[in-house]
Amino acid sequence: MLTTLADVRAVGKGEIIRPAIPVCLCRKGFYSARMAEKILSTRNHDRDAVGMTYLYPVVSRRAGGVSIGINLNPNSACNWHCAYCQVPGLVRGTAPGIGLEQLKHELTAMLDDVIDGSFMQERVPENCRKLCDIAISGNGEPTSCSNFDEIVRLIVEVMQSFNLGDDVKLRLITNGSYLHKPNVQAGLELMSHSNGEVWVKVDSATAEGIKRINGITATSELLFKQVKGAAKLCPTWIQTCMFTWDGSEPSDAEVNAYLVFLQRVKAEAVPVKGVLLYGLARPSMQVEAKHLGALTSGWMQSMAQQIENVDFPAILSL
Ligand code: SF4
Repeated sequence: MLTTLADVRAVGKGEIIRPAIPVCLCRKGFYSARMAEKILSTRNHDRDAVGMTYLYPVVSRRAGGVSIGINLNPNSACNWHCAYCQVPGLVRGTAPGIGLEQLKHELTAMLDDVIDGSFMQERVPENCRKLCDIAISGNGEPTSCSNFDEIVRLIVEVMQSFNLGDDVKLRLITNGSYLHKPNVQAGLELMSHSNGEVWVKVDSATAEGIKRINGITATSELLFKQVKGAAKLCPTWIQTCMFTWDGSEPSDAEVNAYLVFLQRVKAEAVPVKGVLLYGLARPSMQVEAKHLGALTSGWMQSMAQQIENVDFPAILSL
């Protein structure tokens, strides 16, 4: 997915974080020796940063804390192919079977070290030593798991066992395409009772734009149903990435269709909390990368203002 946290577009230069002394966290049994060699920084969102299969902590300078990402797609498989996708070696497909015991052990081990302070001291700069969220987001579409509800239940149980409180959200970052599945709906419902939040992707509201940007055949009607389906089950934000294509800004027709989409969300009282609007801050790992460029901050700010004119809060990350 695009991000794991509102951080990922962290501004400024990422600071390389090196432990003062070599660290050994093998007491938990789940960190590999590579962990001591890996460095966390706001620029490095390496899914392998701690040598785990499903867990990857990210330091967010802007959010001022740590996000624990849960990657349910270690096979780098997604049913979409977004032009801006940052997953190297992305293939079409679905998530593999998830080792529930391993996921539980990895999350427990990670939270153990975060809560007792050792992870924060050894891997995180002083001004970022707080846990912001646990984000289900990885190298593909997480809701393509056949037992997504079971996975959410497991994550919630582990979170509850640590009494993380309301400050630590459980976020799902999704393209929304499996929201018709009962097990995904059950997972979202569970999240809604567990301080959960969904970020669902809408990058374009035209069939042409969706095809070009997301690599799928779909209509804005389908995306609307997906957004509505998410929002009725769990607090939901729309997540949108905008950029130039071959040097051209999004056309007036594209922008208008997007704003009409939001107007419909508002008119039909779909309880969307707002829009997370992203620019192109990190390079795409797809062949389409050569077409993409960052929009000016002026253009993005104007877009954010137009979103706010539809009466949605817009959070802009450049
Ligand atoms: S939906 Fe799939 S292709 Fe698009 S950004 Fe997320 S992981 Fe990449």
